[in-house]
Amino acid sequence: MESNQLYNHLERLSELLRTDLRKSGIEHGLQPVQLEVLHYLSVCNRYSDTPLAVTEYLGQTKGTVSQTIKVLEQKGLLLKRSDTEDRRVSHLELTKKGHKLLDRLVPPPMLIKACDKLPQKAHKQINHALHQLIMALLQSNGMKSFGVCHTCRYNGRSEDGGYYCNLVQQPLSVDDVQRICREHETAA
Ligand code: SF4
Repeated sequence: MESNQLYNHLERLSELLRTDLRKSGIEHGLQPVQLEVLHYLSVCNRYSDTPLAVTEYLGQTKGTVSQTIKVLEQKGLLLKRSDTEDRRVSHLELTKKGHKLLDRLVPPPMLIKACDKLPQKAHKQINHALHQLIMALLQSNGMKSFGVCHTCRYNGRSEDGGYYCNLVQQPLSVDDVQRICREHETAA
């Protein structure tokens, strides 16, 4: 079956990347899951930077995520702040130190080396095929897409020509629309 071969490739790929990430993480006293949390928070938008969204995105338990956040805070890589309107909700953001560390470790050096060897055309084809596979996997299993904001059906334009979210009814910046969102729904 095609899916068997696909699975073999994906499993090999994720194992190689995870091993590389684990090695780099160890040098800084970090586990792969801690780096995954940092990476998610570096690409998500302000509606998706909560512990609950991290739990949903990584498919980890609430306990694991809350432990991970605690460690990252203690290491000075992450800051937690309360929502200005609802004090029960916390938002998470990377510190300068967190951003600096992530820039050095993600994407893993092994992947960067491999990409340098591939022609531009192959980059585009692989990116496109992987995106299609991820979307099919999420849609067919009823999971959240966590897609990039500018591809969302709620992404619109305001009268002044800026971007606007028709779901939360708030303006969006150019940076916002490049980020991933837990409320994302693919445009038809
Ligand atoms: S337009 Fe969609 S992806 Fe963007 S902030 Fe609104 S709900 Fe999220």
